[in-house]
Amino acid sequence: MSRYWSAVVHGLTPYVPGEQPKLANLVKLNTNENPYGPSPRALEAMRAEVGDGLRLYPDPNADRLKEAVAKRCGVTAQEVFVGNGSDEVLAHVFLALLKHERPILFPDISYSFYPVYCGLYGIGYETVPLDGDFAIRVDDYLKPNGGIIFPNPNAPTGRALPRAEIERLLQANPDSVVVVDEAYVDFGAESAVPLMAKYPNLLVVQTLSKSRSLAGLRVGFAVGHRSLVEALTRVKDSFNSYPLDRCAIAGAAAAIEDEEHFERTRRAVMASREKLAADLAGLGFDVLPSAANFIFARHPQRDAGGLAQALRERSIIVRHFRQPRIEQFLRITIGTDEQCAALVAALQEILA
Ligand SMILES: *Cc1c(COP(=O)(O)O)cnc(C)c1O
Repeated sequence: MSRYWSAVVHGLTPYVPGEQPKLANLVKLNTNENPYGPSPRALEAMRAEVGDGLRLYPDPNADRLKEAVAKRCGVTAQEVFVGNGSDEVLAHVFLALLKHERPILFPDISYSFYPVYCGLYGIGYETVPLDGDFAIRVDDYLKPNGGIIFPNPNAPTGRALPRAEIERLLQANPDSVVVVDEAYVDFGAESAVPLMAKYPNLLVVQTLSKSRSLAGLRVGFAVGHRSLVEALTRVKDSFNSYPLDRCAIAGAAAAIEDEEHFERTRRAVMASREKLAADLAGLGFDVLPSAANFIFARHPQRDAGGLAQALRERSIIVRHFRQPRIEQFLRITIGTDEQCAALVAALQEILA
């Protein structure tokens, strides 16, 4: 009975996540999950939390996790903010740091949650077109703005922006916050974290959902100057004091500390990506260079929607965006080598 809805709810256009079909035996390459499991040390740490201790609230500051992130990023715990998935961290970022008089800037082809947050919080935005090769052109962002946000590597294109270009953007925008959403950075891009010491207007957001294979746990974090972190904490403590439960804090900290598992699995994903990119090129696809755990590709002769449907009939799910400029592309998550081979075999059959 929508007559009970607030005016805000009437005006919302919610984000639509990639589907999570409840079917067995799917080759699920649509939401950029990691095909390898989480760190065994993370699972063990979470199991150890399941007990009588759950009657107590978790640490509202998640200090154990902040310390693990701080150590990994070479910053102090006061420069770390943690949240229930980077989606929640980003939500707080929009309200705390991107809601100003002037519109914010982000790429025309980018994470489709950004305009949703703008709608929720009443934030004006302008989209800045990627260039003809789907790359971010820093020179196009050198104009007055209320803030800048983009993923690096970008999603769903997979293209990475070099750190030197991000520095140029920071230098040109000392009066607004520049947010780099590094959801996929561990698969081959340069992190902006080392720039933090020099630029108090830089905020870097990362997640444990992709490279740490913990999408189901919902943990993300931001790293930036303590005054940016303080702004985020003020919003968080006006919203939910305990966004991370005890299992999430313990599991995420252990996952971050398990360097060996992290290195081995991310390298496996990157190696599979290079092989899949070559195989797709062999089938005639145009493949954008990817620094992420997915590939963005189009076939010059075949309709992307039709290909996605034909794959689905063979129990393989990839992501297709019905959106200007990219409606002929498929975004394909890197699976195990076996899953990638199943995809290539299916495409061979479909294209024959
Ligand atoms: C996956 C993704 C996120 C969200 O990650 P969660 O931590 O799972 O909420 C944020 N930004 C981009 C660009 C992503 O692709």
